[in-house]
Amino acid sequence: METMISVQRAFNLIAQEVSPMASVEIPIELANGLVVAETIYSPENVPAFSQSSMDGYAFAYDENIVSYQLVGEMAAGSSTTFHLNPGEAVRIFTGAAVPFNADTVLMQEKALAKDGKLEILDDQLKKGNNVRQIGSEIAKGEKAVEKGTALKPAVIGFLASMGISKVKVYPNPKVAVVVTGNELVSPGGNLEYGQLFESNSFTLTAALKQMGIQDVTVVQVKDDLDQLHTVLSQIIEAHDLVLISGGVSVGDYDFTLKALELSEVKTIFHKVKQKPGKPLLFAVKSDTVIFGLPGNPASVLTCFYEYVLPAISKMTLRKLALQSQKAILQNDYSKPEGMTHFLKAKYQDNLVSFGTGQESYKLSSFAEANCLAIFPAEVSKITSGETIEVHLFA
Ligand code: AMP
Ligand code: MG
Repeated sequence: METMISVQRAFNLIAQEVSPMASVEIPIELANGLVVAETIYSPENVPAFSQSSMDGYAFAYDENIVSYQLVGEMAAGSSTTFHLNPGEAVRIFTGAAVPFNADTVLMQEKALAKDGKLEILDDQLKKGNNVRQIGSEIAKGEKAVEKGTALKPAVIGFLASMGISKVKVYPNPKVAVVVTGNELVSPGGNLEYGQLFESNSFTLTAALKQMGIQDVTVVQVKDDLDQLHTVLSQIIEAHDLVLISGGVSVGDYDFTLKALELSEVKTIFHKVKQKPGKPLLFAVKSDTVIFGLPGNPASVLTCFYEYVLPAISKMTLRKLALQSQKAILQNDYSKPEGMTHFLKAKYQDNLVSFGTGQESYKLSSFAEANCLAIFPAEVSKITSGETIEVHLFA
């Protein structure tokens, strides 16, 4: 186990220890946002027949014919068709199969149909107009979606249009959030002297659900080594990602590290040279990724954005990490050298400023912020006008 490491070392260790989850096949309607785990080839021609793109009249185009004989009608979905002779046309509707021997559709606004005869009022009409050729969207066997593509509504619709109902993806992790603390009361309850409302599980669950991660179990545990050890052993077994809130520091009631050791995890690091979130802990057990997040509400969310998100990105191959951006600082700031500071800040039009309320127990400044401003370990003084890095919340 490494201890009191740099932020960069912590990122590197997480990247090194976390691997993509095993791919699974799921219904396409559950796959939005996930990354495709295999290249997909179209099982069908789309469209599967040559298709009218207009309401109008279909025929074999012949520039010498001015009037066609109407011999029938084709509606979308109609499975009977016609073999047209030269000079014959059918009434046709959008999405219907163009009859055999027909190659052109005249839109109805440019047609005069009367007494079984069709007259063309479109002097721009060319052979092939308004007909979607068979396989013109994608041909059977052609590459449709590359492995590694992130699914989005258009891609899911495209898969459906080829008749594909299931897709192999890297799934989202099954997550457990374990909140520790004798002082915690769920919102809606009554506080006794010395108690406070539990908020971290709500913050984390909301953040996870915002990423489309729905399978989140919350467990609340007292500051009790035996209980925590029992709960953690079971939970680690049954989940891909375990986020423990609180108890990760060095107080007499901080049992997270001991309970994890009893659960035979491999602790990779404990304590990072940063503020907030110094006691951050990272461990793994077989394929399960475990974070011990310091209980202070702002530390929890900062560590979630800076460390847990990159880990989830690695597990799912999704691009979830906060977007990094350069910005011109509007305040002065000084801090001890050797510590990275993350400040709740506001970014707009290349400028970034931060206010008061940076203490790790305060969420209100976080609630107003739209980014974290990064003050790297190696600098101690940064003045207004200098360029810094910010990480924008989605
Ligand atoms: P700990 O990391 O357990 O020492 O907790 C640090 C601070 O965060 C203490 O003031 C706790 O009361 C507070 N805290 C811990 N867990 C939670 C939680 N789930 N919700 C809100 N505050 C918490
Ligand atoms: Mg505690």
